[in-house]
Amino acid sequence: MSAVDIAALGAFLASAETHLSSLVRPVRTLEASISCLAAERVFASDEVSSTAVVDGLGRVGLLSRGHFLALLSGRLGYGRALLSRTPVGELVDWTALVLQADAPVTSAAHQAVSRPIEHRYDDVLVRGDHDLGVVTTARLVESMAILLATRSVRDQLTGLASRDLLFHRLHELCAAVSGTEDRVAVVYLDLDDFKSVNDTLGHAVGDRLLTSVARRLESAALPTDLVGRLGGDEFAVVMALPAFPGGHAEQVARDIGGRFRAAVVDDLILDPGHACRASVGVAVAGPGEADPESLLREADMAMYAAKRSGSGVTVTTDVTATLAPRAPLLRTALDQGWLRVHAQAIHEVATGKLASIEVLARVQHPDLGLVGPGEFLYDAPDDALCALDEAMLRAATRQLLDHERTWARQVTPYLNVNLSVPSLVLEDLDTRVFAILEESGFPTHRLRLEVPEVADLAAVQKATPRLQSLRDAGVAVTLDDMGSGSSSLRHISRLAVDGMKIDRSFVSGIVDNERDLAVVRMLIDLGAGLGLTVTAEGVETAEQLEVLRDLHCPYVQGFFLAHPEPLAEVLAARQPGDASVPD
Ligand code: C2E
Ligand code: CA
Ligand code: CA
Repeated sequence: MSAVDIAALGAFLASAETHLSSLVRPVRTLEASISCLAAERVFASDEVSSTAVVDGLGRVGLLSRGHFLALLSGRLGYGRALLSRTPVGELVDWTALVLQADAPVTSAAHQAVSRPIEHRYDDVLVRGDHDLGVVTTARLVESMAILLATRSVRDQLTGLASRDLLFHRLHELCAAVSGTEDRVAVVYLDLDDFKSVNDTLGHAVGDRLLTSVARRLESAALPTDLVGRLGGDEFAVVMALPAFPGGHAEQVARDIGGRFRAAVVDDLILDPGHACRASVGVAVAGPGEADPESLLREADMAMYAAKRSGSGVTVTTDVTATLAPRAPLLRTALDQGWLRVHAQAIHEVATGKLASIEVLARVQHPDLGLVGPGEFLYDAPDDALCALDEAMLRAATRQLLDHERTWARQVTPYLNVNLSVPSLVLEDLDTRVFAILEESGFPTHRLRLEVPEVADLAAVQKATPRLQSLRDAGVAVTLDDMGSGSSSLRHISRLAVDGMKIDRSFVSGIVDNERDLAVVRMLIDLGAGLGLTVTAEGVETAEQLEVLRDLHCPYVQGFFLAHPEPLAEVLAARQPGDASVPD
């Protein structure tokens, strides 16, 4: 995990996280007037690295063990004799860093490590409501590292590299082989019947399967390979291959794919009758030239080819960026009319009532079957994303109103529709939305637009006037995926928003991960304080729902309550009565 990008670290840490109070230890507090001799006894009896010192002027200073004992022994050993009667206040660092207990770990760590070098590793004093505490810089830095390691670069479930880290490494490798005889390869692995495992044996078994697949892939990998989870049941390995004769690339790729596949499927029996199968695609770039996007796409396509043919492993060699680019799937889907509108319910926790429906895009591919956004958003050009958002808004508002007219009954107060980043920054976003709503006759006040996290603050600022114009007309704006790794907390004060959705990566940990629980609690409180509609996403278990109920989270969404289904089916199922949040 060499490649930790500092900017990413900063952005990550600026997102939702824990307060200093969670790291604080109690500290001995001494009066500035006591003698150095008395202070020395404190250090002798207590294994503390520092103490706090207070004086009659209300100042708080830090007396660090190392500094104090060094002064006492003195360069020639006379320090103790000279200083024993001296008030300890004279040796104290009155400029020490003193932070409030409710400061975020982020800013605390930042302040600690940006001190002058001689004070950089001094302890940090922490002022609580009634008392003082202390935290070591090492502890601060360590907790930052843990936060980072467990979230932005590691997949939560399996501990493998995250999608982000995998992409980062792939880009690095592609740059590194440029002009050499080396090649870059990507192995794509997808389990064949994971959905049925999840459906028939349950999520816990599904999670165990994913974890054991992860361990098996790691054991088949070389130390220089990077194994990651792309999401769901999709895994990838990126690697550099040393120069080998061109004609053999195909065989080498096949061997590599076969090795990983065998590692995963050999003797992996979940349950009597449930052997695990997997399809593997391998893409190898031509020597000395590798394009990350082309490689990923080709590996993905090779994997689908393997799945379709049942051959287990399919390889593509000599992938170059000059290869005629395949039309992005979303573009083709829009042109061919393969777009489908699915939807997932959002429930109000207190009443159990259906509060809204979020529409989610799917592509009905003639060969691949029903395909989720993970397969068509990543390589979609900006104009296709804008077209997608408009198409979803148009289709969803029409379908909902048609249904309501037929049944003369409103099934849900609101409709949530996702916006992509390119839509968000459109100069005429507001007029486009108004035009579609007018066309379908859908009332502005029933629409909630979910806006994605935008790393680029300039883009956010640019979008603000249009979002405000939408809000003025009654459309609600909700910040999606809060805390998912970008600087959303900073955005929330800049973006004029009405709601936020807490990312499921936090929700998934609330039952057994204290940090996640703290983050979710903080976001719910923050939302309540700002008067926002807060929705927790990705609620998968009754225990999670219970915790959210205790935290007074107003709205929930997730597989425990409802899976995404075709919008027509979701609407049909709402007749005649509403489903409730299960107890
Ligand atoms: P999102 O907006 O965060 O949507 C929620 C995603 O979480 C959906 O994935 C949904 O199926 C999934 N989900 C819901 N409950 C659970 C749960 O309990 N556990 C787990 N593990 N997952 C759950 P989906 O449909 O694959 O969509 C992925 C992303 O694609 C969406 O994330 C959204 O960012 C984007 N997307 C989907 N439809 C559209 C669209 O029409 N326009 C735009 N711009 N983006 C879309
Ligand atoms: Ca969303
Ligand atoms: Ca979301």
